[in-house]
Amino acid sequence: MSEDSIFTKIVRGDLPCYKLFEDDLTLAFLDINPVSKGHCLVICKEEYQYIEDVPDEMLGALIKSVKRVGQAMTTALGGKDYNLIVNNGPIAGQEVPHVHFHIVPREPGDGLRTGWKQGKLNNDEAKDLAESVRKALSN
Ligand code: 5GP
Repeated sequence: MSEDSIFTKIVRGDLPCYKLFEDDLTLAFLDINPVSKGHCLVICKEEYQYIEDVPDEMLGALIKSVKRVGQAMTTALGGKDYNLIVNNGPIAGQEVPHVHFHIVPREPGDGLRTGWKQGKLNNDEAKDLAESVRKALSN
């Protein structure tokens, strides 16, 4: 059996955190290495690595907590905008294999880099891909 994640240890109280919010299914706390002031994490208390593994009811609770904590954080900071980031799997940059939303508060001119170099959609590729996804969704 794999070891419990760092976040499960936080949920259990075995590791400390600066807790912001908790309900039966979710927990929010400050990120230990913030990329901006107020950077925090909202997690499912139960440990799942991938968002698609999380039961719908829990996912609903998670996004509601993200909304509440995002609003409260920006109110506390006197701002409004933030990035929501989910690194879903290690190739996508996930370091802690336990589903979590990053809330990253933004300020004008904060210099945080969010821009990815964008390409141009290829029509043939797009047609095939959209067809494949619709097929996967209908199964
Ligand atoms: P990921 O790369 O998995 O999307 O993000 C994991 C986040 O968890 C990182 O931003 C990292 O700083 C944060 N983190 C890792 N270990 C701890 C910890 O022990 N306590 C807290 N509060 N945050 C942590």
